[in-house]
Amino acid sequence: MEHEAVGNLHAHTRYSDGEGVHVDIARAAIRAGLDFVVVTDHNVWVQGMDGYRYQEGKRVLLLTGEEIHDQEREPQKNHLLVYEARAELARYAPDPQILIQEANEHGGLAFVAHPIDPPAPLFGEDDLSWEAWDIQDLTGLELWNFMSEFKSKLTSIPRALYYAYNPGLIAQGPFTSVLERWDHMLAQGQRLVAIGGSDAHATPVTMGVLKRVIFPYEFLFRCINTHVLLPGTLSGETARDRSAIFNALRAGSAFIGYDLPASTTGFRFRAQGEDREIGMGEELRVRLGVTLQIRVPRPAQLRLLRSGLEIKRWQHTQTAVHTVREPGVYRVEAHLPYRGKLRAWIFSNPIYLKT
Ligand SMILES: [Zn+2]
Ligand SMILES: [Zn+2]
Repeated sequence: MEHEAVGNLHAHTRYSDGEGVHVDIARAAIRAGLDFVVVTDHNVWVQGMDGYRYQEGKRVLLLTGEEIHDQEREPQKNHLLVYEARAELARYAPDPQILIQEANEHGGLAFVAHPIDPPAPLFGEDDLSWEAWDIQDLTGLELWNFMSEFKSKLTSIPRALYYAYNPGLIAQGPFTSVLERWDHMLAQGQRLVAIGGSDAHATPVTMGVLKRVIFPYEFLFRCINTHVLLPGTLSGETARDRSAIFNALRAGSAFIGYDLPASTTGFRFRAQGEDREIGMGEELRVRLGVTLQIRVPRPAQLRLLRSGLEIKRWQHTQTAVHTVREPGVYRVEAHLPYRGKLRAWIFSNPIYLKT
């Protein structure tokens, strides 16, 4: 029986530029209701931390990946999230293609972190976007990164303070240019898995007389998460569950959920062919037609896209069915009104229909 696990794939500790330690992240993840959380410190793979952490009868699987970039480069662009390589790969940072190759050769997964990460000069923050697009063999992209979206709003001190004190107003959706790039790469025949991440640092910032932690781990773990669909429930055994989570992620059996407005748990996107039904990340022959089935945990605006173009929209619905006869890369977005705006809520991974 398919089992859904909710996790956050991008967080920092004191091993790099985060404020907390691993146990702080585990506790925050438990409070936020996550099943797993992955610590991705900059240019350091911290061994010996993986395992279940328990508190008050609840548990979370804490895992360790790495966010790698070339620290000699100015500005320090091209951040790569590496999971499951089980080795220190930071020495390969100067050449992103070699780094991706090494991640793959170690059995790992490689995702472009925050593909667009705008500068915030008022706060001394550089543009840390990905530039090395002439690359192959990526697992996927971090389509939606909370901190990059926050940086895009830091255009004046009053505006920065407004969002710092109203963090629930920050997230609206991935940058359009990132979505377009993903769709373009998919349309060219690449298989790229989309993930979402908080990029949690829990950084104390001082802005004039105001000082606070932007943003606590727990708040961020209630925001942009990645939900994976596993073949069975989590066993409680670290190595086994870690493999199950990363296998599902590698296969694209996952979706991005902005869980703050409402939990996205229960979202499904499936395709029913003549003799077979598949889920996200899988491929099916279109033949005489395929029925796409979408389910969201509460009524929302649903958009169905084929190869980057919207082909159908439902304004306020919880389930939708649509039969298609054209091959292409199909994906779903759900949008929800929250705090005065229609905001992105769910991004499926694609279903691939072939001739
Ligand atoms: Zn980064
Ligand atoms: Zn990061």
